[in-house]
Amino acid sequence: MTETKILSGKEVASAVYDDLSSSIDRLTSEKITPGLAAVLVGDDPASQVYVRNKRRRFENMGLLGETFRMGDDSSESDVLTLINDLNGDDRFHGILIQLPLPKGIDSDSVLRSVRPDKDVDGFHPENIGLLAAGNPRFIPCTPKGILRILQFYNIETSGKHAVIVGRSNIVGRPMALMLSAKNDTGNATVTVCHSRTPDIANYTRQADIVIAALGMPSLIKGDMISDGTVIIDVGINRVEDNSEKGYKLSGDVDYESVMDKASAITPVPGGVGPMTIAMLVENTVEAAERLIS
Ligand code: NAD
Repeated sequence: MTETKILSGKEVASAVYDDLSSSIDRLTSEKITPGLAAVLVGDDPASQVYVRNKRRRFENMGLLGETFRMGDDSSESDVLTLINDLNGDDRFHGILIQLPLPKGIDSDSVLRSVRPDKDVDGFHPENIGLLAAGNPRFIPCTPKGILRILQFYNIETSGKHAVIVGRSNIVGRPMALMLSAKNDTGNATVTVCHSRTPDIANYTRQADIVIAALGMPSLIKGDMISDGTVIIDVGINRVEDNSEKGYKLSGDVDYESVMDKASAITPVPGGVGPMTIAMLVENTVEAAERLIS
């Protein structure tokens, strides 16, 4: 039995905000307030919460965070027109498109329309290409935040076997690129599992680090990992219950059954989530800094 260390994303995020304060002060002295425009289309309840949390964080830090809401009857061309305006609006150094977009709007076209040097989420093909080539401009916030958690807690990746469950463009795929990169935060051997992988446990049991990003509540269980595994739980799933809210948040990992087997784990909430927002702030500050350098 191992005592499982809790990897607090909140704590790491707080250190990130402290580190950013001198950059923000420098920008402010140059009369530049880092600004983020968040585009929210439709009324997906989880998306509304995410965008509100991001905007609040920007406001708390004295930064500009503005949400542009569009109804779910908006056409793709309406959305593209708004993004075109934001691309040319100097108040905003970063533009975020909250996903998922309503049916009928092609996410790829929308993401491609964001100016690559304002693409603080790192989803534009140009930025994905730069990341794949080992010369990143903007790194997607969730995988970037995960590497920061590993670094903060001195969890070695070099020579380790990382098993990523999930291959989305937002989390799994960029995570695989980063962990396999030839650099200090990479150098891992990476296996990517997904919905067509038979017997995922066969891979997760061989892992030193498991990154669960599949969006299925509690799918990764204690009998699927070996003693001493580090677990990063990316999942944020709403599971119905009898509480006032009517749901509770659950990760992709069955917390109870991996406890005392995993050497370390990120909680949900309070793990990867706060780091995603911290990296969004960091990317936006970096975007603003490029403007004056
Ligand atoms: P997605 O739906 O785009 O991708 C899910 C991936 O998991 C797919 O590649 C699919 O092949 C794989 N998958 C699905 N079911 C599987 C199964 N049974 N076995 C193996 N693989 C399976 O999701 P996403 O956007 O990558 O998000 C994944 C989860 O992470 C969601 O719960 C989401 O809410 C959460 N998320 C959290 C943060 C954060 O900041 N903490 C950020 C992004 C996403």
